[in-house]
Amino acid sequence: MIMQDKVALVTGGTAGIGRATAIAYAQQQAKVVVVGRRIDEGEETVRLIKEAGKEAIFVQADVTKEADVKAMVDKTVDVFGRLDIAFNNAGMAGENPSLIEQAEAEYDRTMNVNVKGVWLSMKYEIAQMLKQGSGAIVNMASVVGVVALPNILLYTASKHAVVGLTKAAALQYAKAGIRINIVAPGAIQTDMFEAVTDEAKAYLAGLHPIGRVGTPLEVANAVLFLSSEMASFVTGETLMVDGGYVAQ
Ligand code: NAP
Repeated sequence: MIMQDKVALVTGGTAGIGRATAIAYAQQQAKVVVVGRRIDEGEETVRLIKEAGKEAIFVQADVTKEADVKAMVDKTVDVFGRLDIAFNNAGMAGENPSLIEQAEAEYDRTMNVNVKGVWLSMKYEIAQMLKQGSGAIVNMASVVGVVALPNILLYTASKHAVVGLTKAAALQYAKAGIRINIVAPGAIQTDMFEAVTDEAKAYLAGLHPIGRVGTPLEVANAVLFLSSEMASFVTGETLMVDGGYVAQ
């Protein structure tokens, strides 16, 4: 089991890719901290993990709030004694009308969740990992962290920011035993994907050379690799899980 005795935290663990990854970590024997705003959904992820005989707790936190993020790491250390792995996955797609129609509040909301949330999470996770002398972090970007789609402009900007933030942090802490990487999925079958129109779904599916959208488990498997000792010489890297989308 590649996560034996590790403590792993997942933001956005109440649904979709985060829930699938929390379960995948637990199946590899990690103790898991599930983070999100929705209590019932978070407790459901914990129930699924405990049902399989593994350990997990839910911590309610909004990743845009510094006090919540600090408390999420404090609670992890209180309950499990340490923090070895963090998957900073919480994110949102938001409203994406054309640029001249975009509201300032929507800009702030998208950047707060997708960028500030990752920055704040790393701030407290890395502080704990420095005390331990080791750690592995995976930040959630997207194909649009690497290439652009014109009709999801703010989301594209926020995910590009996650890539830059991650690379700089990876360089800053490379000698401290902390590896920090990025996972960049194409369209994945989750609530976020289900929220778009049928026309948009068909368009998105057609963008991937493999000819379909991906599953949460396919992303979880990539996150598992980056989080594990199998990736011990990998840092500052962006792993595409995109059915060949950016290879075109
Ligand atoms: P999802 O099912 O909508 O999950 C989003 C998760 O983010 C939820 O667990 C949600 O939890 C959490 N979240 C949102 N705002 C939060 C906040 N302020 N504080 C704490 N948690 C927050 O969608 P998903 O597809 O699994 O998305 C997960 C990540 O993958 C996102 O970063 C997304 O941008 C990225 N991604 C998705 C796709 C795709 O096609 N699905 C492709 C590329 C990248 P609560 O609502 O409980 O807070």
